[in-house]
Amino acid sequence: MYEFEYHRADSVKDAISTWTGASDGAYLAGGMTLLPTMKQRLASPSDLVDLAKIGGLKGITVSGGTVTIGAMTTHAEVNTSADVQKAIPALAELAGRIGDPMVRHRGTIGGSIANSDPAADYPAGLLGLGATVKTNKRSIAADDFFTGLFETALEDGELITEVSFPVPKRAGYSKFPQPASRFAMVGVFVAETSGGVRVAVTGAGPNAYRVPEMESALGGNFSPDAVAGIKVPAGDLNSDIHASAEYRAHLVTVMAKRAVAAAG
Ligand SMILES: Cc1cc2nc3c(=O)[nH]c(=O)nc-3n(C[C@H](O)[C@H](O)[C@H](O)COP(=O)(O)OP(=O)(O)OC[C@H]3O[C@@H](n4cnc5c(N)ncnc54)[C@H](O)[C@@H]3O)c2cc1C
Repeated sequence: MYEFEYHRADSVKDAISTWTGASDGAYLAGGMTLLPTMKQRLASPSDLVDLAKIGGLKGITVSGGTVTIGAMTTHAEVNTSADVQKAIPALAELAGRIGDPMVRHRGTIGGSIANSDPAADYPAGLLGLGATVKTNKRSIAADDFFTGLFETALEDGELITEVSFPVPKRAGYSKFPQPASRFAMVGVFVAETSGGVRVAVTGAGPNAYRVPEMESALGGNFSPDAVAGIKVPAGDLNSDIHASAEYRAHLVTVMAKRAVAAAG
């Protein structure tokens, strides 16, 4: 690991001004991705701006049919929240299936979506539920947030403050985990929302994406049978030592059926 300056921010304003004053700053959430990346010398920020002590970035509220989760809220806190379990049980379930206990107790929703790993679970939840990402500057619809492999719509230095999820009529998440890391080989989140059915896939492509053909089919008949015959093309999907593109394409249909069944 290279040398760097460590700063503990006490407010969003302080974090942003410290980042702005650094030659190559990085926000630090739980460090679950950033620190290993620095140890491997794949990243060498000049300054780390720790967000852990900014009280306003942590916590969960449910109000007016919306669940709002602060950026520094850990996966374990989302998983065990009675409010999330009641309002959007599929989201609590998703958080509980991320990685292992250490990752769930350190990793945060803000760090996860800022990182935009192609196999991360939250991107499917955000897209599937039609969530909104709030930053220090603006609100970004989940449909516009994940722009590519480890790429998001965030501008340099833009800080995620919270994510808002509209409570759906019903929702389900199904994931086929990579056995060692627990990241999604393929994960599918399905939700029946006031604006229609949404189907979002993670793990299969360079970033999370929706499947309009499945959404239309489920709009007419919300049952696993409605998606059983829908095959997604393997052409653009990821292929690696864990699974071929064809296998991932097959898993999308299987996980979609299971997610619909889980949604009831
Ligand atoms: C062994 C292991 C297994 C894992 N398994 C899974 C899995 O099964 N599913 C899954 O989804 N994930 C998995 N993860 C990832 C994990 O869920 C973390 O959420 C993810 O690594 C981000 O970690 P973090 O929140 O600590 O962010 P950090 O590592 O601290 O930061 C990650 C990136 O986000 C930026 N950032 C952090 N917070 C903000 C913010 N508020 N605004 C803007 N930018 C910000 C940082 O600058 C950095 O670039 C795994 C990780 C490990 C190490």
